[in-house]
Amino acid sequence: MSQQTSPKLGCDIDGVLYPYIATLCRYAETISGKSLCPHPPFYDLVKSWGITMDEQQQAHLKLFSSAPHHHAGAPLVGAPETLWALAEAGVEITYVSRRATYTDSIGGDFKNAVGMTGEWLHEWMPPGEMVFVDDKREFRGHADLMLEDNPAEAAALREAGRTVWLLKQTYNLEAPGPHYEWGGLELASFLLGERTETDRLVGAGR
Ligand SMILES: [Mg+2]
Repeated sequence: MSQQTSPKLGCDIDGVLYPYIATLCRYAETISGKSLCPHPPFYDLVKSWGITMDEQQQAHLKLFSSAPHHHAGAPLVGAPETLWALAEAGVEITYVSRRATYTDSIGGDFKNAVGMTGEWLHEWMPPGEMVFVDDKREFRGHADLMLEDNPAEAAALREAGRTVWLLKQTYNLEAPGPHYEWGGLELASFLLGERTETDRLVGAGR
């Protein structure tokens, strides 16, 4: 990897940084009246939880209806420390997400979702451009690596020529890897090569 330009990471938000399913689970339980597992076996929550599409969408809209609801979700353990260490070592991060476009597509407020996302990222994560798309393949920016949790999106991105790692989740264990867990040193090694000082910084966040 070239040392002349900054390494670039394209980072998904939900299921990679934000605890989307654990947070959504609380609203989906209230709406459906069912007790739901926060560690679903499939990416498809309708299938995993035995709820209706309408119940899933209502839960999503509830989550994105107000900043306090949304901000109750603290980041996945190890994610902020790792991203801050990478950023301080010179990695440029672009946050690539479907969350605002999806919210808009089911009757929610695109701008609100963008605003909440910006506030939440500002609270926890290093600065970086936010890109909201319908399909991750619409992202045209350079990324040496993209980090994703959705196995179908990972496969589509790879088919489009991207290098993609999966953030390890119960619903993507069967999908082709690599699978990454926050705190692991592989991300820094891949993006930064021999910059061992960063390995030390990232390792300190484990
Ligand atoms: Mg995701």
